[in-house]
Amino acid sequence: MLKKKSIFVISGPSGSGKNTVYDGLRALMPEIAQTVSATTRAPREGEVDGVDYYFLSEKEFNDRVENGDFIEYVQYGKNYYGTLKSEIERLSSLGKIIVLIIEVNGALKFKELFPESVSLFIIPPSIEELKKRIIKRGQNTEADLQKRLQIAQYEMELKDRYDYCVVNNEIDDCINNVYNIIKGEQTK
Ligand code: 5GP
Repeated sequence: MLKKKSIFVISGPSGSGKNTVYDGLRALMPEIAQTVSATTRAPREGEVDGVDYYFLSEKEFNDRVENGDFIEYVQYGKNYYGTLKSEIERLSSLGKIIVLIIEVNGALKFKELFPESVSLFIIPPSIEELKKRIIKRGQNTEADLQKRLQIAQYEMELKDRYDYCVVNNEIDDCINNVYNIIKGEQTK
């Protein structure tokens, strides 16, 4: 059985800074751990299989879907992404506070399945700033960028369905706000 308030689901458009927020949180809370998702996306430079993602071929991904291995999975752009049941089991057996950093459709599905989980949405200061951040990352083609911005608009429309929304104007403030939310939920 999972402890109450031990699962936090974080979403936010590509470029909202949600992964940087997580890195900042880890430094403050070593007891948190992120689920490693499976994806059919190609690894970016520096990404390691089994650490950043489980990088699967479409065939491998589909086989795992057929096997019922996923809690949730989605198509995002051209690729598939999904949370493996085994990841939740692995981190929960280690007694970790579990963090999922996933897009909105998967997050809302997850929240339905685990209503005791807490959902947070990271809001970028503006779409312009978001665009700048995605371009700065420099790992997307123009078509990818446009697709990510389009998905970002859609994701922003669903932000009110989250338990908390946190604006990422200044990264340290944002990390502190998320930290306080997690700490607050743990003492409820
Ligand atoms: P990226 O390609 O930038 O690593 O991820 C693209 C989007 O997929 C991000 O919003 C990321 O949070 C989301 N994502 C990563 N893993 C999963 C997952 O397991 N499930 C869902 N639903 N989204 C995921």
